Amino acid sequence: MTTSLDKPLDKAGDQSEDKFFDGRMFDGQVFSGGWITPRGGDAADLEPATGTELVRTGVADEEDVASAALGAATEQRAWAATSFEERAAVLRRAGMLVERHAEELQDWIVRETGAVPGLAEFAVGVAAQECYEAAALASRPLGEILPSNQPRLSLLRRVPVGVVGVISPFNVPLILSIRSVAPALALGNAVLLKPDVRTPVVGGFAIARIFQEAGLPDGLLHVLPGSAEVGSAMISDPHVRVISFTGSSATGRKVAELAARHLKRVHLELGGNSALVILDDADLDAAVSAGAWASFLHQGQICMTAGRHLVHESIADDYVAALAQHADALPVGDPAAQQVALGPLIDAGQRDKVHGLVSGSVEAGARLAAGGWFEDLFYRPTVLDNVRTDMPAYAEEVFGPVAPVVRFGNLDEAAELAAGSDYGLSLSILTRDVMRGLALAERIPTGIVHINDQTVSDEAVAPFGGVLDSGTGARFGGTANLDAFTDQRWITMRGDIPKYPF
Ligand code: NAD
Repeated sequence: MTTSLDKPLDKAGDQSEDKFFDGRMFDGQVFSGGWITPRGGDAADLEPATGTELVRTGVADEEDVASAALGAATEQRAWAATSFEERAAVLRRAGMLVERHAEELQDWIVRETGAVPGLAEFAVGVAAQECYEAAALASRPLGEILPSNQPRLSLLRRVPVGVVGVISPFNVPLILSIRSVAPALALGNAVLLKPDVRTPVVGGFAIARIFQEAGLPDGLLHVLPGSAEVGSAMISDPHVRVISFTGSSATGRKVAELAARHLKRVHLELGGNSALVILDDADLDAAVSAGAWASFLHQGQICMTAGRHLVHESIADDYVAALAQHADALPVGDPAAQQVALGPLIDAGQRDKVHGLVSGSVEAGARLAAGGWFEDLFYRPTVLDNVRTDMPAYAEEVFGPVAPVVRFGNLDEAAELAAGSDYGLSLSILTRDVMRGLALAERIPTGIVHINDQTVSDEAVAPFGGVLDSGTGARFGGTANLDAFTDQRWITMRGDIPKYPF
């Protein structure tokens, strides 16, 4: 087959009709057995930094979901029967296409999600790696030989689940969609993908474009942006067997309840309120840099964002002063037009929620050491001191650029504070004594631990996920994807049919 991999590269900034992710392709369309006009209508895809309409994309409704699910179930059987080499080749080409068109994809990420270019570049790198890891997954052993008390061969064989429904959020939509789409396809499944209506291109259509060009047969990947009702329709549809959901804990609970009614397996990757613990021996300058990155990267709209800075009382005054100074110096603005550290929040609803949590905490007695104000969707990086654990900006997931600081006097207090959250996604401990950090981490329930690094990290090969309200214990990444996107079948074989007593 001929793909754009065979053609010469576009020049950087080329505005010709040769754009790989040409917005006109998505105009009023969804991807479901090719680009089609959905029954659900269309919606404006807005650039948060400027309010500009980037494109009007199609929006799915429940009927679109039903016909996509039926088509996906039909096509999936033939796809599962193809050789692993064929599936792996599609995934490898997808990875190469992500890399080849990285610049254009990064541009969409910056404009549609408000990410700074560095984060967009990181997301594109992870997306390519997700495709390559998924390609490798297709050729991994798909079972085990089991012991048996009978004269027979007894096997565990992994089989595709059939149709996988992927529901993803607005914040880092490329990674959060492709981390399920790529392994699910590689393992012989079909996929219905529902990105957030605010990020339909980066969370969905760009991925459709990549896989279409990579030679994925029609009807295996359906991209259906839509409302909560569209997500519910996916969960309820009898053809969709497994749901991979990334989003807030409140929505995750609804997803789990509906899935339980339909006896569906669900993988839930939910919210967080991760602690960054700074012990008395930590390098202060490095801790301030790590703390700022952990709370302000992508305007704090990352599930692993540090929402709680727990600092030893002997260094806390210096830490707060330096973090506030650092925050005040960070430029905030349109990441497509200027070099900034923070871009816009996704929309006014999110901004008002963030500001409500900050204002509520200040009214309850927190001291605003930096930030606490906004212009349009641009929220200043904010540092809160004199924080109590019952204040809203500390107790809840803010999903904005806010660093609440709480002091502790000894390791027992640090452990109690860090563990005192409903969430359990990421944990960071900064100390010159690594073993002391590790021992402290053992006392705190969490899915991810970073000693001497901040809370935000992602690699396609690592098992990603949380405990408590951050998820159901499911993991994405590396071989964890085998569990997520296959069913286990027990098979026995013997040479002769045994004779039974009656
Ligand atoms: P959200 O839960 O509001 O939405 C996520 C997705 O679910 C969207 O596509 C939305 O349209 C859909 N949805 C909403 N209601 C639904 C329903 N009733 N049934 C089915 N689908 C429904 O989340 P959000 O506010 O867009 O995203 C931010 C949240 O996601 C934060 O809490 C963040 O921590 C979390 N998150 C978690 C991870 C992780 O890997 N653990 C990663 C990124 C974001």
